[in-house]
Amino acid sequence: MYFDPQQFKITGTYVWYYCICKREVWLLSRGITADQQDSNVDIGRFIHERSYSRDKKEVEINGMKLDILQNNKGRLLVGEIKKSSKYLESARMQILLYLSELEKEGIKAEGVLMVPQEKKRESVLLDEVGRKQLDEAKQGIMEIVCGDFPPPPLRIYYCKSCAYSEMCWA
Ligand code: SF4
Repeated sequence: MYFDPQQFKITGTYVWYYCICKREVWLLSRGITADQQDSNVDIGRFIHERSYSRDKKEVEINGMKLDILQNNKGRLLVGEIKKSSKYLESARMQILLYLSELEKEGIKAEGVLMVPQEKKRESVLLDEVGRKQLDEAKQGIMEIVCGDFPPPPLRIYYCKSCAYSEMCWA
């Protein structure tokens, strides 16, 4: 399967899966897409649409869709709304990527991570630690996608709801 690293762009989706399953990163990079009809995706969308809808604006930057939640007192907030706190590390990393992309465009922002169902709210900053984590994740993603084969499947909690489950475990 042909893959051109020069054409490859690290998006929020890759960063998200990098924190959950390295194999999934490779599968996605080859255009083997997950089933978007998965019921978990629908619940996520439902919460996303119903929560914070009054002060939320979706914008697209460098091909990534992100939620700009507030712009109060000169502070721009970039948010990620999740249906549970199960994959907060992935969501945190995703926000760091968004903040970094905005910074490249000259826009300073802060991140906020929300889990409406659990009334949870956590701030995410692109500080020294955040930058280091993001750089490591990006490097790790490039190493995976440049490989000729996907990493072997590792059974994790997420496999139960993963659209690649049949492919990995049939
Ligand atoms: S089924 Fe499990 S191992 Fe396979 S891609 Fe999904 S999460 Fe990864």
